[in-house]
Amino acid sequence: MNVRGSCLCGGIRYEVDGAFGGVVNCHCSMCRKATGAAFRTRAAIPTAAFCWLTGEDLVSKYNSSPNETRAFCRVCGPTLPTFFSDRPDELGLPLGTLDDDPGIRPSAHVWVDSKAPWWDITDALPQHSEGIQPASIGLRSTP
Ligand SMILES: [Zn+2]
Ligand SMILES: [Zn+2]
Repeated sequence: MNVRGSCLCGGIRYEVDGAFGGVVNCHCSMCRKATGAAFRTRAAIPTAAFCWLTGEDLVSKYNSSPNETRAFCRVCGPTLPTFFSDRPDELGLPLGTLDDDPGIRPSAHVWVDSKAPWWDITDALPQHSEGIQPASIGLRSTP
């Protein structure tokens, strides 16, 4: 499957050509800070399936954890993929910047212990106090 996404200003466009792994709603404080939202919906995808189409020169990166680098547009700021130095074959793609429907839906809430107090989870998806194991969603699910 071929799915495209872009940032708010449109300067950055990317494409995912391949299967998406598991999708989770991550409530960790870093994802909340990075997005300014109650949680960040993200999919695990193979790094080889991702490519920048335009605007790679506008991509800035922030090391939010020792092995974790979050990409964003330096013009308009949205969170773009997260890269992991200890598992470079996988990245975390926030679904909010997609322009197409990836055809998959979140399967769980993770890091619920860090959830915003002003947000109540009202759906029936499983809730995990921290991250969940790879076997649960296909690819790894840490934020
Ligand atoms: Zn932008
Ligand atoms: Zn997170």
